Amino acid sequence: KLSKRLETVAGYITKGGVLADIGSDHAYLPCYAWQKGLIAGAIAGEVVEGPFQSAKSTVAEYGLGEHIAVRKGDGLAVMSPGEADVITICGMGGALIRDILERGKDKLAGVTRLVLQPNIGAHNIREWLIANGWELQAEEMMKEDGKIYEILVAERGDSEAPYRSRREHGILFGPFLLAEKSEVFAEKWRHELQNMKRIQQQLQQAADTEETLQKRQEVAAKIAMMEEVLA
Ligand code: SAM
Repeated sequence: KLSKRLETVAGYITKGGVLADIGSDHAYLPCYAWQKGLIAGAIAGEVVEGPFQSAKSTVAEYGLGEHIAVRKGDGLAVMSPGEADVITICGMGGALIRDILERGKDKLAGVTRLVLQPNIGAHNIREWLIANGWELQAEEMMKEDGKIYEILVAERGDSEAPYRSRREHGILFGPFLLAEKSEVFAEKWRHELQNMKRIQQQLQQAADTEETLQKRQEVAAKIAMMEEVLA
């Protein structure tokens, strides 16, 4: 059975298109999407040998070799421009997801939707989407097995549109998540606030270098944003 996390991601896959799932590990997501009749075919990309073999095993086990191509390579290097309609990149840090998109920019021709699921650092992805003409369409935050996950869905369009009011807040918290302010959202940001306060205490004890002063300001600004949003 697929995790609630990946099931939620699958719900955002464009129907009837070709999916490229990057960092697919066991290839559970493309296999599930095929079985549910959501896609016309898929590419499962993996850069590490172990997970690449796991992906091949799952696809073979389900007898889906004709429909799901398992390819070994770094990020979007496993696909050609025009080959996929939708890309999913799930279960990694936001900075890594951003780097994969940035390095694979030339492969995005024909891709109409990105479904990205960062475990942390989603703001890195929002900044990349803004800079590259992808408009955030939806966001979800969910909790499973004690862990909190975010899902970001973007399509080509007016990338600044979701951030017209309170841009900085939108980038950090997510414009849709901020508007919704769910219980999980509050839980995540209460936790982040505590972390920031611990960092602030450490910075107070550090020597007064220019770098420390700058970091103190950044941390204070973030704490103020979090306290305001949680109030
Ligand atoms: N996407 C699956 C999920 O959400 O359950 C697997 C997540 S797993 C934690 C992350 C996977 O990404 C690992 O299997 C890792 O090998 C793969 N990965 C990391 N960097 C990658 C890259 N640059 N290109 C392709 N795969 C990568």
